[in-house]
Amino acid sequence: MTGRLAEPLATTLGKRAAGPLAKMGLETVDDLLRHYPRRYGDPGRLTDMDRLQLGEHVTVMARVARATVRPMRSRGGALLQAVVTDGRHELGLTFFAKRAGALRPHEDKLRPGRSGLFTGVVSEYRGTRQLTHPDYILVGVDADDDEEAMVEASRPIPLYPATAAVPTWRIQRAVRTVLDPLTEDDVDDPVPDEVRARLGLPTRLDALRAVHVPDAAEHWQRGRRRLRFEEAFVLQAALAQRRARTAAEEATARPPRPAGLLDDFDAALPFALTDGQRRVGEQVAAELSEARPMQRLLQGEVGSGKTVVALRAMLQVVDAGGQAALLAPTEVLAAQHARTLRGMLGPLAEGGLLGGAAHGTRVALLTGSLGAGARKEALLQAASGEAGIVVGTHALLGDQVQFADLGLVVVDEQHRFGVEQRDALRAKGRVAPHLLVMTATPIPRTVAMTVFGDLETSTLTELPAGRAGITSHVVPAANPRWNERVWEKVREEVDAGRRAYVVCPRIHPDDDVDVPGSTGRGAQGSAEFDDVPEFLELADGEAGDRAPLRAVLEVADMLRSMPRLAGVEIGVLHGQLPPADKDAAMARFAAGEASVLVSTTVIEVGVDVPEATVMVVFDADRFGISQLHQLRGRIGRGGHPGLCLLVSTAQPGTPAAARVEALAATTDGFELATLDLELRSEGDVLGAAQSGRSSSLRLLRVVKDADLIAEARAEATQVVEADPALGDHATLRDAIAAQLDAEQEEFLERA
Ligand code: ADP
Ligand code: MG
Repeated sequence: MTGRLAEPLATTLGKRAAGPLAKMGLETVDDLLRHYPRRYGDPGRLTDMDRLQLGEHVTVMARVARATVRPMRSRGGALLQAVVTDGRHELGLTFFAKRAGALRPHEDKLRPGRSGLFTGVVSEYRGTRQLTHPDYILVGVDADDDEEAMVEASRPIPLYPATAAVPTWRIQRAVRTVLDPLTEDDVDDPVPDEVRARLGLPTRLDALRAVHVPDAAEHWQRGRRRLRFEEAFVLQAALAQRRARTAAEEATARPPRPAGLLDDFDAALPFALTDGQRRVGEQVAAELSEARPMQRLLQGEVGSGKTVVALRAMLQVVDAGGQAALLAPTEVLAAQHARTLRGMLGPLAEGGLLGGAAHGTRVALLTGSLGAGARKEALLQAASGEAGIVVGTHALLGDQVQFADLGLVVVDEQHRFGVEQRDALRAKGRVAPHLLVMTATPIPRTVAMTVFGDLETSTLTELPAGRAGITSHVVPAANPRWNERVWEKVREEVDAGRRAYVVCPRIHPDDDVDVPGSTGRGAQGSAEFDDVPEFLELADGEAGDRAPLRAVLEVADMLRSMPRLAGVEIGVLHGQLPPADKDAAMARFAAGEASVLVSTTVIEVGVDVPEATVMVVFDADRFGISQLHQLRGRIGRGGHPGLCLLVSTAQPGTPAAARVEALAATTDGFELATLDLELRSEGDVLGAAQSGRSSSLRLLRVVKDADLIAEARAEATQVVEADPALGDHATLRDAIAAQLDAEQEEFLERA
């Protein structure tokens, strides 16, 4: 950014005007021009004043009914009282001053019949609602001549995200001051001319004028669309560059070897692969056989069997003499993967041991909480190549971890890992390893394009045959009869030899806030919290007086003393347990020694106990949709139908209630993912899905702007193909760099 756009606002507007803007994070002309209006006021339509709330900071469009200045007898000084109206209701405006003269200019402006925007905090005086010393702007009054006044009066009024210190029209004025003198030469455009011409888009300057100073609604709509396209285009160009860079890298080809581990594994598999697993498996096998790194996203419904696909890919690589690393988001999941792998491989995982298969390999497990001895052993097996498969958590990213010949990186349940972590692991290969990324839940196509846009996508849509399915119900927490029924049901299932999960949002009843990392991002970076519920902020009016969230330890005690569950062993699992205890708890549950497991969301991803048929989720309304969907995917994995009971304290009609009701209504992960996006803000979605990416997207909406994203992707890919280093597209190059900087910053802040 150079020239006029880079100019500090303090220079352009003066220190006094720039100060409050700086507090909003707006430092330069460019920052201010990217502070887009949230919506637009229609100058012809007045605000319905019946809806104003006491104590609320409001901006209303209203017409002046009357205004009079009078002296105040009791206190001295003068008072201007005005009344504005929406045509039906009235709102008072009150101004005080030492002398009546000081109020004359207001009186002069606030002439009956004029309309304007008034902003202030709503208070009440003798039963009438009013604004004291409101800030205001009158339509058409601040223009120089009549004709201009007419034009100004008919424009849609941009309403900016504002603060009490900087009302929206102060921002509007500041924007006008910096925008009006700009020329096309001042405003470089990251969208190349030929793309703009082809799609019939306005220039960047035109678009800025359209959103900040629109002539009519169609005008700002067109400008906004063009700016959305720009955001999508810059992002897609960055992703296209990333794809092109990795495609140009060299990898080791790892073609299948007949009569190797993979063939043995397939022969021992207790089920037939689904069509989808077979199709994706062939695709992956072919790409692994190429001397160019595979870059693939495997997404699919919960329980669709993504792990088997990944295992088979890993075995192909081991057969070809390479190693595979499997990166899991939690210790529980990493341990389970290692257990499953060893179990499925049997003697094949005992390479080099007495009784192990001749062509066998080893599976090493590396997590943050290993003892020094076990850790050293695992590191050694990875570095020597003795372990063909190394399973781990973030610990795998550490500097001390070396591989003899890393050929494939599998990232399981991607939503807890960012691009940076993927890269850190990829960097451990001598040449670029192949990469397979798996999502925890299905994601809509444009989210895949936006968040995982540097990867090719495969999707598993079908579930393996013989699944009996899951039924879900919302249980109002306050209804004793329903709650009775919950435990009755748990008892019935346990008596039939099956198991139940009971999920709580907190560990300890004394934790006065949520568990660490309650923004759902705690697992980023180095920490290895296993229970990081992805709590949602409560919307306005939802907070109220709520009972404290249920806690694992408290609920376990309650269940142990419940006559209905007499004789049932209740297990406990949460992230603060020592790893050995976590493993033991999981193993006892899997083996049926403890038929009920009270747990945090530590079981959210991937945990696989086929006999588990019931899940009770306390405070279900406080979890995110995809998290609940993922949790629920832990049951009904065997031949018996699953029952998910969502205990909720949400008030009917709130977004929280909408979330749990949606969950109860469908098990279609794609449908839920789309709904999830609609109920949240975009920043949330992208932020939760992956670090970064959100800061540069101000206007773009990943679901609603699907067409635009697809269009931007096609155009950006073409531009990058023709000019991979973007040597002829300096502005685009700068925009990408700025975006990466912002991402990096965000990532560092969060880590
Ligand atoms: P997800 O896609 O959610 O990660 P998993 O890979 O954990 O699903 O698979 C869920 C369960 O289904 C596991 O117990 C797995 O062994 C089993 N499974 C996978 N593929 C098949 C298949 N083709 N037929 C029957 N069961 C399968
Ligand atoms: Mg899985």
